[in-house]
Amino acid sequence: MRVEALATESGHCATPDRIIFSRPYRAANELANLATVLESDHSHGDGQFTKSATARLKAIVGSPHALLTTSCTHALELGALLLELGPGDEAILPSFAFSSAATAIALRGATCVFVDIDIETGNIDASAVSEAVTEHTKAVLVMHYGGVAADMAPLLELAELHGFALIEDNAHGLGGTWRGRALGTLGTVGTQSFHDTKNVHCGEGGALLLSDDLLMERAEIMREKGTDRARFLRGQVDKYSWQDIGSSYLPSELNAAVLDAQLSEFDAIQAGRHRVWNAYSKGLSRWASAHDAHLMTIPPEREHTAHLFYLRMPTEDSRDRLIRHLAKSGISAPFHYVPLDTSTAGKKYGRTPNPCVRSAEFSSTILRLPLWPLLNVDQQDRILDAVDAFSW
Ligand SMILES: *Cc1c(COP(=O)(O)O)cnc(C)c1O
Repeated sequence: MRVEALATESGHCATPDRIIFSRPYRAANELANLATVLESDHSHGDGQFTKSATARLKAIVGSPHALLTTSCTHALELGALLLELGPGDEAILPSFAFSSAATAIALRGATCVFVDIDIETGNIDASAVSEAVTEHTKAVLVMHYGGVAADMAPLLELAELHGFALIEDNAHGLGGTWRGRALGTLGTVGTQSFHDTKNVHCGEGGALLLSDDLLMERAEIMREKGTDRARFLRGQVDKYSWQDIGSSYLPSELNAAVLDAQLSEFDAIQAGRHRVWNAYSKGLSRWASAHDAHLMTIPPEREHTAHLFYLRMPTEDSRDRLIRHLAKSGISAPFHYVPLDTSTAGKKYGRTPNPCVRSAEFSSTILRLPLWPLLNVDQQDRILDAVDAFSW
């Protein structure tokens, strides 16, 4: 074991600081950008920082269209509106996912159909999708867990064959790729999150990615209370009015100002996260093989985003004990999603054609280690040592 206690100036020993799971990044220009907004007469949406942050986002993902939104949850809602999901329609999604995806479907009156995952990645299992498709399937939602691409080849083939839309919940996957193509741009609709637990953040925020020009025209209207205000601002119409259903999904310039500063440091943020991720992957491999534990691994043809690093333990009991062991060393290492099909709302708004046994196992056996760009070498060594010291 390396140093477990730090000497204070007075010579006493203190327990080392708690290592939190996630610390939001701070970008250099955030305060200056915020001052610019506050001192201007424009802090509502779609000003200069929205324009600049949108351009930076489009450059990162190479998407022809992007719209900033107030959250990824709202981007998913906007996506479900655009795809015209409604009563009688079904949308297939993984049992192991976040509630935002399910509620966007349920809000439209469509049915969530929960399917199992691939236990090696936590991502939706393409063969389970194939078994769950019916004539009512209008969309399939893919969440790239931890920013590692789902098994896209068979999913794209199924989409082509059955004519359903693919929605990518890419909250974890900004900058990730599959066969060199950016995650979030592989399907009909892609969504990003800029919540402060994500790689790039502005407190709360999100984005919708689209490639289709007609969908983009409609999305602009739906995002702005159902009006053609965006066209008006570009001088394409001389007044704006109610055109379609929609809501208020555009973020304030205050959020965009922080997001713009963060996106300008995207490469540094990612380099910091990958440094931590790689140290876990390398530093824990001997311990993992000696203890029948699985480390997060990246299948071929993918570049991941170092959004998270998880360990998959042999049993729920060993997982829970490792979480408690780390907590005693001041290290926060949480589990993750509760399977949607087992949740109260999942039972009410969804159906589960086949038991999602791998999702249940994945959910009950993983834990995530602290991961943020400025996690320092001493902190990382403390975490590696603490895991290393755990046996059962
Ligand atoms: C964080 C997250 C969301 C929700 O993002 P918000 O921006 O907080 O609405 C949705 N899906 C996944 C996979 C997430 O991790």
